[in-house]
Amino acid sequence: MSATTLTISGELYETIRRHGERTYPHECCGVLLGRSDDQGNTVESAVEAGNTRTDSAHNRYNIAPQELIRIQRQGRERGLDIVGFYHSHPDHPAQWSKTDFEEAHWIGCSYVITSVEQGTAKVTNSFLLAGTTEEDKRFEDQRVVVGSGVPDAVRC
Ligand SMILES: [Zn+2]
Repeated sequence: MSATTLTISGELYETIRRHGERTYPHECCGVLLGRSDDQGNTVESAVEAGNTRTDSAHNRYNIAPQELIRIQRQGRERGLDIVGFYHSHPDHPAQWSKTDFEEAHWIGCSYVITSVEQGTAKVTNSFLLAGTTEEDKRFEDQRVVVGSGVPDAVRC
């Protein structure tokens, strides 16, 4: 079985959802640093990234390669790997698009999508990029476990 859980603290979960509200009606995007094991990916840090697609930031997202390398290096200095990416879908469901799939290349990483409806973050889903190569890659639904004892009532 493949890894099917994304574990994230309540604080970081809120951070990425608030990011999507802040950039609305444009997409936000960022990188998730943490650790991977057989159970899935655990997020320990979320790094905001600039959206380089300023021409159509409402339906595409991209992270500049230099920025990605810098984030990766900073993570490694703290013993963390890139375990995922997040972005928002302004006024669209929290489901991956054809473009999201085509632009996903990090096998084993979690792709987290938050729907933002009229400026308010709604659903946050995570999809694991499973497979072994670019040819057989696929997205699998991933369970999101929002961490350590933060009651639901505190959120949203
Ligand atoms: Zn998307």
